[in-house]
Amino acid sequence: MTYRQAKYPEPLVFELSQSEREGGFFNPEIEEIPEIPPKLRRERLNLPRLSEPEVVRHYVRLSQMNFGIESGLYPLGSCTMKYNPRACEDFSALPQVRDIHPLQDASTVQGALEILYRLERMLAEIGGVKRVCLQPAAGAHGELLGMLLVRAYFKDIGENRTEVVIPDSAHGTNFASAAMAGFRVVVIPSNSTGRVDVEALRAAVSDRTAAFMLTNPNTLGLFEHEIKEIASILHDAGALLYYDGANLNGIMGKTRPGDMGFDIVHFNLHKTFSTPHGGGGPGAGPVGVSEKLEPYLPVPIIQYDEDKDKYWLDYNRPKSIGKIRSFFGNFAVLVKAYAYLLMMGASGLKEATEVAVLNANYLKEKLRRIPGFEVRYDPEAPCKHEFVLSAEPLKRETGVTARDVAKRLLDFGFHAPTYYFPPIVPEALMIEPTETEPKEELDRFVDAMKQIAEEARRDPETLKRAPFSTSVSRIDEVRASRRPILSWKQFVRLRK
Ligand SMILES: *Cc1c(COP(=O)(O)O)cnc(C)c1O
Repeated sequence: MTYRQAKYPEPLVFELSQSEREGGFFNPEIEEIPEIPPKLRRERLNLPRLSEPEVVRHYVRLSQMNFGIESGLYPLGSCTMKYNPRACEDFSALPQVRDIHPLQDASTVQGALEILYRLERMLAEIGGVKRVCLQPAAGAHGELLGMLLVRAYFKDIGENRTEVVIPDSAHGTNFASAAMAGFRVVVIPSNSTGRVDVEALRAAVSDRTAAFMLTNPNTLGLFEHEIKEIASILHDAGALLYYDGANLNGIMGKTRPGDMGFDIVHFNLHKTFSTPHGGGGPGAGPVGVSEKLEPYLPVPIIQYDEDKDKYWLDYNRPKSIGKIRSFFGNFAVLVKAYAYLLMMGASGLKEATEVAVLNANYLKEKLRRIPGFEVRYDPEAPCKHEFVLSAEPLKRETGVTARDVAKRLLDFGFHAPTYYFPPIVPEALMIEPTETEPKEELDRFVDAMKQIAEEARRDPETLKRAPFSTSVSRIDEVRASRRPILSWKQFVRLRK
């Protein structure tokens, strides 16, 4: 006999299927059910056959095998895993929002266009930019759009610029996006405080430089206070400044990338603006630009005709790079972010940033005092919304690594922090609590970190086998990213 519990591997829904089992509760006496076209019939699609309770239980069990933001603190640094308010889900599920089609004539979807237009205006205000394209489906996708805009701009003004400069602390997607758009990547080192080395930047910038990509606060959670100088180095050389907006939660309502001198800005709606992230996605990575880059934005642009009080789609943009994604992007996600912005208001966004920064500093000050952990760069300086702890002292003393600590945290009911990123910090644990965590949850986290450091000294071997309470323990991370299993058929084939 097998026992089924959250930890027990759940079979595939196809393996649970029983021939002849029926799902819905249809009254056979109702004759009005429309005929399903033969092409779409279940037999041809080979859909699994289960009763409704079996389906519900299957998916509930799957959800219990996972860890989500609804399960507990999810301090995944750089990812801004804040709580996703249910009200935003409700708005995006309204029939007026859900049951429309992107190919409908603009005159029949004025409300939807108004939502997109207003969202664009709000993001433009938050970012300090002229216009925003809502199409990209993620931050990385936004970066690619940004780099394609850089390319289009220099082509249009007749300059051949081939290089993009990126600091060594940057997110991996920055390097990939620049390379995908055809640029040569030039990496510059960070200085001893973990910030951009301005002299190294000056030396790297030339008339070959197309752009510099930067996030501010940077991935260490530290504000680049020399940003004005950085911006003039780039602009004096005729190059552009790209803002990786993943860390906007650290400055929202306080300062704006546009005011710092950035020409292109991406927003991660699934980070800063609270739409679901990862498996709960899809995401959205809108891109804002300053005036001089506006002509190159993807089509269509949503325009508002004040006299007629009408929204319309502007495809007549001769310098546009074309499209970066079908239609207008992930519409339902955009509606969730719009609902979030309306709920928060300007003062709410500012307060979110203040509490996110306060929570991060509270954790930083508590955690760096636990023997075994330290903050490498500028430890005394207040951080913004996140910070990077190094577990190197603990490793030297006990052999227990940052990965071991991250995995053990799962047994305490916390998601693991981001680890081994950014690569400039050895044994990095990147921690971002966000504003949605109460102090009690932060204190529980500190307590867990203390217990883990003590366990590392007492019983490192057990720790190295953690986690014990999850549906799977240590996975082969290299194989998981080198050989992803993307369909259930592939899974079944490889499991044999
Ligand atoms: C998350 C992140 C990205 C990429 O965004 P996605 O939406 O995950 O594609 C880029 N830069 C930084 C600093 C990030 O944290």
